[in-house]
Amino acid sequence: MTVQHTISQLASQCVLCGLCIPHCPTYRVFHTENESPRGRISLFKALADGDLSLSDPLFETLDHCLGCRACESMCPSQVNYSKISDLSRQLLAETIQSQQSVKQKIAQSVLQNRSLRSLAKLSGQLMKKGQPSLAEYYPVDNAIGQVLLFTGCTGELFETQTLLDGIVLLNACGYNVLIPEAQQCCGAIKRRQGDLDGMYQQMHQNIEAFTPLLKNSQAIISLNNHCSGQLREYHVLMVGDDSETVAKHSFDIITFLQHALEKKKMSFQPLEHKILLHTSCSLKNVLQEESALQSLLEQIPGSGIHKLDAQICCGAAGSYRLQYPEIADQLLDDKIKQIVVYNKSTLLVSSNLGCSMHYKQGLKKQGLDIEIIHPVSLLARQLSLKKSFVDTGSF
Ligand code: SF4
Ligand code: SF4
Repeated sequence: MTVQHTISQLASQCVLCGLCIPHCPTYRVFHTENESPRGRISLFKALADGDLSLSDPLFETLDHCLGCRACESMCPSQVNYSKISDLSRQLLAETIQSQQSVKQKIAQSVLQNRSLRSLAKLSGQLMKKGQPSLAEYYPVDNAIGQVLLFTGCTGELFETQTLLDGIVLLNACGYNVLIPEAQQCCGAIKRRQGDLDGMYQQMHQNIEAFTPLLKNSQAIISLNNHCSGQLREYHVLMVGDDSETVAKHSFDIITFLQHALEKKKMSFQPLEHKILLHTSCSLKNVLQEESALQSLLEQIPGSGIHKLDAQICCGAAGSYRLQYPEIADQLLDDKIKQIVVYNKSTLLVSSNLGCSMHYKQGLKKQGLDIEIIHPVSLLARQLSLKKSFVDTGSF
């Protein structure tokens, strides 16, 4: 069966009910059928069937999709939107790559290329001064198990402190933490670019790096919801026993800690601030573990939690905001309006780096001085038994 035939067949499962439409962020911005999931599915099908040829406006309409997957999680007919989109983007890969903004290309090259990442670190411009670097192994006394840390391509560069805070919490729960050296990007960036062969190559490298170590380790832990979602789908994206092994053992740190803390009670210092909680689309629509984040934060005494409306994407979507800043900013405005009513005694908690950076810009524009912090860093900060090498950081 050709790729075109597969797209056409998958798209035919859409019964055109339109229940997905109000949940689509681009429909919220443009209010047109073409900028809705139902519209895009019809356009992908028409392209695959050869009933439509690609034009610049058509490409832009299709490319506006943020990949939030809200449509997929709302669809009563279980239309596999992400597969239709992945295969269509593979056919459009050349156009996607030629249309990317210079900023987006630079950001992606730095993230994807190990030596460029090291250079960026060395330049000191992208790292906080004095930030500790990651060792490969963090043992703990009287360990109850061992986990493997997936650092991803953003982890080492932007999130070292968050990774260290995650290690402190995993250690405190009794787990040794090992960081496999040969790991690569999870493949999500290549997937978005339509470069499925490149994605499979990265997946293979990760499978090779992690699978042998799983003999002595319980889980692969990621601190980025987006990477966690991609790892959890390895068996869907690539057939094979080892991809299933990686998928089955992959957990977002939020969910893993929530379960670990049910077994091992820990004492957290009370928090005076109110928490505004942002839920990423990956956590809600791909991992479907939205409730775990709130349960985890409820471990901190005194933390009043107010959840921001998570129905619509904030517009960050990886490097999307570099390509379509107007759409990304318009989507963020709705979230900022929900935040504006709060004062400085508030923390914005987000478990996704891309969303946090997007919020940071939006809050700065509004002159709002609200700290944004990863839930893991907040928990490490409040952990009474905090280890000495931690100097919890925030954005
Ligand atoms: S909810 Fe599903 S079946 Fe209904 S229009 Fe959307 S994609 Fe099609
Ligand atoms: S993935 Fe998100 S942006 Fe794309 S069509 Fe679905 S709801 Fe709309």
